[in-house]
Amino acid sequence: MLQMTKAVYDAIRAHGEETYPHECCGALLGRSTSDGWQIEAAVKADNTRTDSAHNRYQIAPVELVKIEREARQRGLAIGGFYHSHPDHPAHWSQTDFAEAHWLGCSYVITAVANGKAAVTNSFRLAGDTEENKQFEQESIEVQE
Ligand SMILES: [Zn+2]
Repeated sequence: MLQMTKAVYDAIRAHGEETYPHECCGALLGRSTSDGWQIEAAVKADNTRTDSAHNRYQIAPVELVKIEREARQRGLAIGGFYHSHPDHPAHWSQTDFAEAHWLGCSYVITAVANGKAAVTNSFRLAGDTEENKQFEQESIEVQE
């Protein structure tokens, strides 16, 4: 299960509407609990994939380092990543899977249909190596 505040949930959905028809992306900062990640902040990232920004996303390594530092300063850790699927279902693609390397982290995808945020799903990257990793859909609990 992925737990997040309403403010975070609204922010990642709004980000997807903002960048439509391109994908948005960002990181989720929180704490690890026995029930999964408790997300307390979303950090927007620039989509560095200029070649195909409508169906690819990538956070630049230098930006990721900055995000990790910010997380540490706030006593949090990177618990996941989010991106949007403009006019596409909220399900991971083969590219999303190939480019997901943060085992134990949650990957949140929001479908944005005609500029409006629709379904938001979360997939936890399970497994303990790159060879046996797999996405498992998990529920999202939004807290007021
Ligand atoms: Zn995707």
